[in-house]
Amino acid sequence: MSKRIVHSLNYMADFHCIGPACEDTCCAGWRIDIDRATYGRYEQLLHPELDGLGGQIEPNPDSDRDENFGRMVMQADQRCPQLRSDNLCRIQAAVGEGYLSDVCSAFPRITNKVEGQLERSASLSCPAAARLILLNEQGIRFVVMEEEAEQRHILARQWPPADRPSGDPYWKQVRALLIDILQTRTLRIEDRLLKGAELLHAVQTWDKSEEPDTISARLTAIAGELAQGTIPSRDGAARPSLPERIRLLRKLLEARMVMGIPNRRYVQCLTEVFGGLAYTSSELTDDSLTRYMNGYDRYYAPFMREHGYLLENYAVNGCYQLLLPHLHKRDPLIGWLHLTAQFALVEFQLVGMAARLEARFGLDDVVRLIQSFSKTMEHAPLYQKRMIGMLKETGVPPLALIEQLVAPTGLERPTADESEPPLMAM
Ligand code: SF4
Repeated sequence: MSKRIVHSLNYMADFHCIGPACEDTCCAGWRIDIDRATYGRYEQLLHPELDGLGGQIEPNPDSDRDENFGRMVMQADQRCPQLRSDNLCRIQAAVGEGYLSDVCSAFPRITNKVEGQLERSASLSCPAAARLILLNEQGIRFVVMEEEAEQRHILARQWPPADRPSGDPYWKQVRALLIDILQTRTLRIEDRLLKGAELLHAVQTWDKSEEPDTISARLTAIAGELAQGTIPSRDGAARPSLPERIRLLRKLLEARMVMGIPNRRYVQCLTEVFGGLAYTSSELTDDSLTRYMNGYDRYYAPFMREHGYLLENYAVNGCYQLLLPHLHKRDPLIGWLHLTAQFALVEFQLVGMAARLEARFGLDDVVRLIQSFSKTMEHAPLYQKRMIGMLKETGVPPLALIEQLVAPTGLERPTADESEPPLMAM
């Protein structure tokens, strides 16, 4: 059998589905696409244990490619009708893995194609993958693997897009530098996100006036500064407001909640967040702000000082998987803002959980929140668009907004009544 090369994040070598032991199976709680070829096979498949399969699939009215030609008709409890009560797949058990749809076969593997080369990472919405990604104390590494050329995958993203050349000779260098910055452990993870934003902001400025070779040389110089631990710091920035940040994060969360949250695990996390922060009214109260500060200072910050790799791995996985800086092609800073906003939402919720769970707050809680949050947020394209729209509607330039989202928490002691103008123009 022929092989192919896949550039991969190192944890992929250890991934395997834990099937019945899974706490939040991918076979429940969201849409299950059936590709065109599998759809045809299911219509024809005659097997005593798969009686009724043909009636459990339907054409997808929103299909835009072969991979999502059809879909499974989920049960009222949002479980796949082929998921047995012991959480094993009836199709796989009866006729083998080869009969699974492309989506079922590939998940949670995310495959991108970058300048002709396949890249592989995993979705944090799978609990087994989330543990491998987040709990790696040494940090994520980049490896080259071989796999059977026939192994199925679905291309999530491609760069450059099929219809045009890259036109950006140094973007790989920028991407590598962003990941280096995210893995620079001498800085707070929040500061690393800000440094990444500053780098993109600078590159955008250079883009207008300088030749690619000059930019490439400048990037090499920054890489050297990184290696020596002498990244220039940003001076003279205004002190961002914590209440303002929390109001924005609450609005982003609430925009998702009004769309409905089917994932019970995430609902449980939100219940803990709301309890920990006394998050009951539509307005941010002094009591809620005080609880946030206490939860941060007493439980969250000490825990994260010991386990800083968790959120580093979260950010690195997102940066690599989303093909940053090219998620939002016209403005790389918007892609970075998107990643930073998701990071800030995670941090906000973890502080709420820490405030609620106090000394019981631990690694399992971080994995539980990030996994269920990812499953709820990242697979909701409408919400993702809405989120970017809300961030733009603030009218705050992306770099300043990123600074707002990652500003230090422990140094501030504001009140909820701070008379600053609201961020959101809604
Ligand atoms: S979410 Fe991950 S571990 Fe759970 S059933 Fe799906 S692939 Fe397996």
